[in-house]
Amino acid sequence: MSAAMKLDPRDRGGPAQPLLSVEGLKKYFPVRGGLLNRQVATVQAVDDVSFSVRKGETLGIVGESGCGKSTTARLLMRLMDPDSGSIVFDGDPVGERAGITVNEMRRQMQMVFQDSYTSLNPRMTMAESIAYAPRMHGTPRKEAFDRAETLLAQVGLNPRQYARRYPHELSGGQRQRVNIARALALEPRLVILDEAVAALDKSGEAQVLNLLGDLKSRFNLTYLFISHDLNVVEYMSDRVMVMYLGRVVETGPVEQIYRKPRHPYTRALFASKPTLDPDRRTTEMPLTGDPPNPINPPSGCRFRTRCAFAQAVCAEKPPPLAAPLDGETAEGAPHLVACHLPEAQAAMGVSAHA
Ligand code: SF4
Repeated sequence: MSAAMKLDPRDRGGPAQPLLSVEGLKKYFPVRGGLLNRQVATVQAVDDVSFSVRKGETLGIVGESGCGKSTTARLLMRLMDPDSGSIVFDGDPVGERAGITVNEMRRQMQMVFQDSYTSLNPRMTMAESIAYAPRMHGTPRKEAFDRAETLLAQVGLNPRQYARRYPHELSGGQRQRVNIARALALEPRLVILDEAVAALDKSGEAQVLNLLGDLKSRFNLTYLFISHDLNVVEYMSDRVMVMYLGRVVETGPVEQIYRKPRHPYTRALFASKPTLDPDRRTTEMPLTGDPPNPINPPSGCRFRTRCAFAQAVCAEKPPPLAAPLDGETAEGAPHLVACHLPEAQAAMGVSAHA
């Protein structure tokens, strides 16, 4: 879902400069135990993750539960500190002397969570919730509340009807619209949508997805769209990044990844995707078993314990993200795969009569 690129007055580096660049992001959580509550192990939640998001695009992040996609989002928002790695927002390193502060970055980067109810303060009306952040940033009360009512209308909720309601008086879809309005209140440039439609029924999901598309064009937004739902990610994204056990295993343009996935994990993940289209049914084996324990992940390629192609080299060193080994390259944005073996990167088998 591409949006026409408009010039943002806050754009410092021109449209070619990525809005967000992440390099070597790492987060390990200590596991404590024993009588003295000593650290006995670490959970490698996010391990050496690098990517960038261009201005005006939607980057989809997919993977099974526990693959590190939501932790990555929380690290970007600095809801927790990374162990290492750098985050650069429109050319400015975040939290460094020569760059922008975490608070300034948070003004320009907002997040919508899955649980629409716990995201809202039950004691605040919808208008108060939306006006809260602008008020904290010094916007006069009347101006903040006028803007809250405008935003309510822009997300499809009549302010006369909804401005004075409390969260328990709204449906899940209506609450998520309020959360989107709240995220837009500080006029961000990038919005992280972390499973933002996962809790909605199909009709609510379709309405919110269409709303997100409209708002993206209207406000010249860039999205980081995190979801476990492959169909939703395909609908929303320009590029896709696939994560497995804290690492990126494949990334590229959405049509390239969905038409010709290369990493054995991506192919197995797509094989388990329900489809009614006979042309898109696959002969690939679906993914079986649970991901390994992130406390003690496999050496080398983390997918090797579930990969049908694994060989000795797969246990020796982690495969770097690189262009597919058969020499085929994607046009435009690069298609990158983290796999040692060319024979394992064969395109997914597709059968019209599978
Ligand atoms: Fe499978 Fe080895 Fe490729 Fe990992 S590196 S996906 S184990 S073939």
